[in-house]
Amino acid sequence: MKSPPPLAHLDDIVSSGMCIGCGLCESLAGTDHVRMRMTPEGRLRPQTLQQLSEATLGAIDRTCPGSVASGLPAELHSPDVVVDDVWGPYHDVVRAYAADSDIRFRGSTGGVLTALALHLLESGSVAFIAHVSADPAQPMRSVAHVSESRGDVLAAAGSRYGPAAPLTHISSLLDRGQPFAFVGKPCDVTALRNLATVDGRVDRFCRYMLTLVCGGASELGKSTDVLDSLGIAEEELSVFRYRGYGNPGKTRIETRDGRAEELAYNDMWADENTWRIQYRCKVCPDAIGEAADLAASDLWPGGGPTGEDAGFNGVITRTGAGSRLLAEAAAAGALTVDQQLTPRSLDEAQPHQVRKKRAVASRLDALRDAGRRVPQVTGLRIRTLAETRSERERAEEYAATASRIADGQFWEPSS
Ligand SMILES: Cc1cc2nc3c(=O)[nH]c(=O)nc-3n(C[C@H](O)[C@H](O)[C@H](O)COP(=O)(O)OP(=O)(O)OC[C@H]3O[C@@H](n4cnc5c(N)ncnc54)[C@H](O)[C@@H]3O)c2cc1C
Ligand code: SF4
Ligand code: SF4
Repeated sequence: MKSPPPLAHLDDIVSSGMCIGCGLCESLAGTDHVRMRMTPEGRLRPQTLQQLSEATLGAIDRTCPGSVASGLPAELHSPDVVVDDVWGPYHDVVRAYAADSDIRFRGSTGGVLTALALHLLESGSVAFIAHVSADPAQPMRSVAHVSESRGDVLAAAGSRYGPAAPLTHISSLLDRGQPFAFVGKPCDVTALRNLATVDGRVDRFCRYMLTLVCGGASELGKSTDVLDSLGIAEEELSVFRYRGYGNPGKTRIETRDGRAEELAYNDMWADENTWRIQYRCKVCPDAIGEAADLAASDLWPGGGPTGEDAGFNGVITRTGAGSRLLAEAAAAGALTVDQQLTPRSLDEAQPHQVRKKRAVASRLDALRDAGRRVPQVTGLRIRTLAETRSERERAEEYAATASRIADGQFWEPSS
């Protein structure tokens, strides 16, 4: 497969639709050169303020998840790891939830990621957690968030389905020279693993990379549409919670003057045409967090909720560190692990992930053949999985993407 030419301008990634807005390039280039901005289309994208040196562009090209996606580094594959074609490397696949009922309730699903973050912080294993939370000043938006206390971690519980850039300040976090854990989307973890190939501090200080299984991140317009339908202006907001406070919990909107509105999860996400999922997500070669130490998912039979429940996460550990963390957190009473699962039970709960993993190679081929810049994908078995589909299915997938490209999709204006 032909490698794309060296990156000449940061906008080449953005205009190909391969930027997910993780913020790593801002951190690598410095805020005097690159700033993440919300575009008029509701995407967080890097804006180049001053020309970048060849060295900086080279570093971004090697680390941006829009340029490289390689799954779990070979040196982190323990001898006893099993690799499932769909679900990737794993040690444990279990059902679990936060043992503390308040965390379980507040968390997006069963509060596993919040419980693990708290366990790591309170046991002294790490000095802080790097993740994201709602922006206190603009609660419909999300900001990079550093947690050093229980209150900080709890404030970041819950899924943020809009744009979020957790890596904007990763260089300054590494400058602290303290052990930390990172929680982010699979593409954010990909970026951090890529960064480890050019900055040795990542492996020294980032002790755990935790992730969520991810169906895609919406543009901010998805949230704005909800506000518009309720006749509420963004400036009036005091709370914008996508889910959590139950599983899945309701989307809850509160205004500074005391109004409150709620939308059921199935109403919020009923029509896929309104999701406004970003282009990078449609060709995501790793939405299941293969590069992380541990990934947490929803666990609804068939892939969607039929009502509220108490909150159960699927948990996949992928490295020795992830497997030990799961066991230690359970032994310490932070997590309840109540069922062994298998990759095939995850297929049942995540049929959309199985479909996507099989479709991605054909979609990327169509983009590449149309001259678009696409990530270099290795170690994620997307070719093997494409081969499990018939030639006709692959051709149809390719043609559907080619037709979307012809319709003007998979292209973004330069920022
Ligand atoms: C955009 C998005 C799409 C998702 N799609 C699916 C899906 O298709 N299938 C599925 O099984 N699960 C999906 N989830 C994951 C699911 O919503 C839960 O996050 C997951 O089950 C973990 O639940 P939890 O209760 O352990 O999380 P919590 O304990 O609530 O912790 C969530 C953690 O994730 C971090 N976080 C939240 N939003 C973001 C974000 N946008 N970027 C970076 N970090 C973030 C928070 O800072 C927090 O640390 C998605 C989540 C997101 C954010
Ligand atoms: S995906 Fe991240 S590193 Fe790549 S261009 Fe976008 S913000 Fe920058
Ligand atoms: S689908 Fe992939 S690219 Fe999109 S937000 Fe999720 S992990 Fe990132």
